Amino acid sequence: MISFDLKGKTAVVTGANTGLGQGISVALAQAGASIVGVGRSSMEETEGLCREAGARFHGVQADLATLEPIERIIGESMEMSGRIDILVNNAGIIRRADAIEFSEKDWDDVMNVNLKSTFFLTQAVARTMLADGGGGKVINIASLLSFQGGIRIPSYTASKSGLAGLTRLLACEWAAKGINVNAIAPGYFVTNNTEALRDDPKRSTEILGRIPAGRWGDPGDLGGAAVFLASSAANYIHGVVLPVDGGWLAR
Ligand code: NAP
Repeated sequence: MISFDLKGKTAVVTGANTGLGQGISVALAQAGASIVGVGRSSMEETEGLCREAGARFHGVQADLATLEPIERIIGESMEMSGRIDILVNNAGIIRRADAIEFSEKDWDDVMNVNLKSTFFLTQAVARTMLADGGGGKVINIASLLSFQGGIRIPSYTASKSGLAGLTRLLACEWAAKGINVNAIAPGYFVTNNTEALRDDPKRSTEILGRIPAGRWGDPGDLGGAAVFLASSAANYIHGVVLPVDGGWLAR
């Protein structure tokens, strides 16, 4: 089990206050990592859960709708532990409307958080990882919409398909420099992101009926994949988009 151990490592997790970001933070904390949570809402609950797991936790209040907080995120993370070993790009938003009437604002808002800030935060973190030659792990939270089209979420599908491509490009550029860039594609999980779907009885029944595992995912279901990709067990894995979807894509 030694190769899954994250003791002495520091992980920056965006959108750590709730949902999948909280589940991933707790899993990395349980594996021994110190956590820098990045979020625009209070991360008190996640902090408590990480501390319960025996981990250090530092919260950085930051709105990733713009690139403005990136320097501060790097500064506070380096101050906490001197090195960022793991970056989990989890913060993301979704806007739902028919493509025919989709607004420019709903396009830009989603692309800015899901793709633009993700790229430039990753660039800034990678510069620190390369500066001391120690390498690191980047885990992007992609989606089934990295593989499929979906309906009524054009900017979300474009951003998550783009994120899969970006994962592969960064893996190609940085693999030989000791940085592993990979992604996890969650299926349908019970979080704020899917509230509208779960509140729609027709969509909710259709979705559940297509999941071979017979249930929606719980944020804890992502923990194993996140710890694996963050650990030295994944040192020769580059550019994969790993579905954690209860079998959805196999159907
Ligand atoms: P969620 O509960 O809505 O969480 C989204 C997270 O992103 C929250 O922490 C949110 O903070 C943060 N965030 C959004 N905009 C931000 C901004 N401008 N600055 C900083 N943080 C921001 O949904 P989730 O399901 O856990 O989503 C996490 C990731 O998984 C997203 O990238 C999502 O696309 C992806 N995903 C989810 C599912 C699913 O089934 N749930 C499936 C595939 C992929 P606030 O709480 O402050 O808004």
